[in-house]
Amino acid sequence: MKQFVRFCTEDGRVYGQVTPEGVYRLDSTPLEDYTPGEFAGDLDELDLCSPVDPGKVIGVGLNYRDHAAESGMDLPEEPIIFLKPSTSVVGPNSPIIHPPDAERVDFEGELVAVIGEKIHRPDPVQARRAIFGYTCGNDVSARDLQGRDGQWTRAKGFDTFCPLGPIINYDVDLGCREIVTRQNGEIRQRSTVDTMIYDPEYLVWFCAQIMTLEPGDVIMTGTPSGVGPVQSGDVIEVEIEGFGTLRNPVVMAED
Ligand code: MG
Repeated sequence: MKQFVRFCTEDGRVYGQVTPEGVYRLDSTPLEDYTPGEFAGDLDELDLCSPVDPGKVIGVGLNYRDHAAESGMDLPEEPIIFLKPSTSVVGPNSPIIHPPDAERVDFEGELVAVIGEKIHRPDPVQARRAIFGYTCGNDVSARDLQGRDGQWTRAKGFDTFCPLGPIINYDVDLGCREIVTRQNGEIRQRSTVDTMIYDPEYLVWFCAQIMTLEPGDVIMTGTPSGVGPVQSGDVIEVEIEGFGTLRNPVVMAED
């Protein structure tokens, strides 16, 4: 497994490779051929940003049985997908801004697949190979607006409603890794990624039958049970075993 991060420097946002000794700067993105360069610092010293700037963020609804049950929804017969705007993406430590026109804003901790190749109507093997790696995500959702609208664009589309990161984990076996969401240190969601209904490889194949997937696009693979509302001042953490912890504070919008 290799691990990559992106961070802010005087030269703009650059990628680095995470090693036991610290982070080494790359001369390009890890999605291309790259050469590790100079030592950039310890991981916790760097000003990390979202590990990708996705052209598309594809979300998947009701992909864990326990979450479908807590939502009172039937299990889907095929994946239910939706889009979040690229402007909703923020990186680790960036605030999730609670909009004034939403009454209930929920966290949704999720495993996120990062696409590394352009694919359209791939076969299952091509779809699997097109996954560059995995990171953590939070599919922040204005639950009252989601219910009121009957579709999810507004509820899931606010700026800052898609924290991603901190690390892209390359060449990994997902296995039955644990996914945990904490609110102010207290565990709210705890599951394992093997309990998804549709696995990431199938989701990539399914989405790419519809739309061309491009490098940097991400697929958020759905949330387990335990979603709940956030309040201003909260800190939400999404941790996937071995993949890092995505931590974001919540603030009220200044209107
Ligand atoms: Mg979700």
